[in-house]
Amino acid sequence: MFQVKSPAKLDSLSGTWLGHQLTFSYNSASKTWIALAGVSLETTPGKYALELTGHRSALNSPLTFTRTFPVTRAKYPVIKVELKVEKKFTEPTPEQTAQIEEGVKIKHDYLNRVTPEREWSGKFVAPAHAEISDVFGSQRIFNGKTQSPHLGLDFRVPTGTPVAAMNDGTVLLARPLYYEGNFVVIDHGQGLLTLYLHLSEFKVREGDVVKRGQELGLSGGTGRATGPHLHVAVRWQGTYLDPSRLLQLPLP
Ligand SMILES: [Zn+2]
Repeated sequence: MFQVKSPAKLDSLSGTWLGHQLTFSYNSASKTWIALAGVSLETTPGKYALELTGHRSALNSPLTFTRTFPVTRAKYPVIKVELKVEKKFTEPTPEQTAQIEEGVKIKHDYLNRVTPEREWSGKFVAPAHAEISDVFGSQRIFNGKTQSPHLGLDFRVPTGTPVAAMNDGTVLLARPLYYEGNFVVIDHGQGLLTLYLHLSEFKVREGDVVKRGQELGLSGGTGRATGPHLHVAVRWQGTYLDPSRLLQLPLP
């Protein structure tokens, strides 16, 4: 969360960060401008600039400001236990490969959308009250083959547990996909999405407007899952972020 205090009254504040566009919202209680942003797991450690542009209707020229932030290397756990997953997920048939490709296309079409208006407000809440069974960034091994890092947060819940929206938004996807199983994606605006995987049942439809805490579906073990659990992910303008960090942010 970037928080900016401006020395002058602004009508709007925008910024760029790692090639992304940021739109700041004004929080009158703290008199600060805020925007959510993130860093990909693949970002090379270094110093990166946040470039700000403030607009005032009374002035023709905008106010600009630049500040650099260090991005440092983080350590993530390696899970050495072998997970047994059905062969259809590690060695799919041509028909299954076609279903996988269809899923890739749908995700490419939907998950990179950036709607301009912010829909979330206040703190993000956990989608279930349960123990965490796997954290973001861990390295996992399926049938002896190392997979890409775990880009979400797993909650240990049995099938049939209600799954709640982490914040206000609009249902972007609510349909079954090959790996994700029954899959719900909420668009919170400005490129921030939350994703809920492996559900046994849907309680919302695409296009529904949802409130924080609203039931989206019931947990399950559909798609590529070793058993019933809830996998949630946070995606910001095409980059997966750590959901536990979003849940910790004291957002106004
Ligand atoms: Zn997971």
